[in-house]
Amino acid sequence: MKLATFTDAAGTRIGIVAGDTIIDLAAQAPELPRDMLGFLKAGAAAMDRARKAADAGAGRIALAGVKLEAPIPNPPEFLAIGLNYADHIAETRAKPPEFPVFFNKQVTCVNAPYDPIHLPRVSKALDYEGELGFVIGRRCRRVPRGRAHEVIAGFLIVNDVSVRDWQMRAPTHTLGKSFDTHGPIGPWLVTPDEIGDPHTLELKTCVNGELRQHSNTRHLVFDCYAQIETLSTVFTLLPGMVISTGTPSGVGGALNPPQFLKTGDVVRVEIERIGHIENRIIDEPGPAF
Ligand code: ZN
Repeated sequence: MKLATFTDAAGTRIGIVAGDTIIDLAAQAPELPRDMLGFLKAGAAAMDRARKAADAGAGRIALAGVKLEAPIPNPPEFLAIGLNYADHIAETRAKPPEFPVFFNKQVTCVNAPYDPIHLPRVSKALDYEGELGFVIGRRCRRVPRGRAHEVIAGFLIVNDVSVRDWQMRAPTHTLGKSFDTHGPIGPWLVTPDEIGDPHTLELKTCVNGELRQHSNTRHLVFDCYAQIETLSTVFTLLPGMVISTGTPSGVGGALNPPQFLKTGDVVRVEIERIGHIENRIIDEPGPAF
C-alpha cells in the first residue's frame, strides 16, 4: 500500500494511493484515525482495516485534484545518518566510520513532497541529499537485526537538505540540517510488502533535470536493519519516527567547484518502487521577526 496524507476542500486526511487516484480512508474507514501518526499508533488492526478498504477500491478521488502533504507531518523524531555510502565518504575525504554517525533533524523542518525549500537568508551553501527513509511502525526497544523488518511501517523518500557552512562550523550537524522546510519527505509511505528488499533500490537526484546522484541502496554501509538495532539499543523507538539512511556521492558541495542550490532551482529525488519528490528553491519568506 501507498499511504498518503492529502488535503482538498474537505480538509486534511489520510488515504491510499491506487494508480492516479486516492482512496479516502476518512470516508471508507471512518472509524480509523484521520492522521498518519494516529493511524500508525493504532497498529496492525488499523493497517488491516486500511488494506480492506484498498481491496474494496471504493471512494476514489483523482490524485491530481488533491495536495499531497508530508506523509507524516508531525513525526515524534527525525533522525538521519551521515557518511553511510562508501562513494560519499570518499568525496568528502572523511575516514569511513566504524560506528554509525546519527544526528537529529528538528521535526519542524518536515516539508511536503512538492512544496518549496527555503534558501536561508544567512547562507548561500544550500545543498541536497537524496536518501531512502523509513518510518517506525510500533513502539520498540532492543530490536535484534534479524527482526528489525517487523518494526518498519514503510519507506519514503527524504531530501536531507543541508546548509553546509552551518553544518560544518560546529561539531554536531543539528543546526545545518534543521532549517525550516529542509526535510521534504514523501510522496507517500510505501508498506514493506510493496518494497521487498529495501537494499536493492535505485536512487537518483537531479537538479534542473541534470543527474547529480545515482546509486543503489545495496551500497549502504549500515543498512536499515542495522540502524534499527543500534538506535533501539539506546532508546525506545516510537511509531511515526522517521529515519533517513544517508546519501550517496554527488552532493553539490563536493563538486569542483561546489554547486550550491540557488533560487528557482528544482531538486528531484527518485527512488525505485516509491516514486519521486520534487521541490523548488525559493528565498526564505516572512518578516524578520
Ligand atoms: Zn543526509
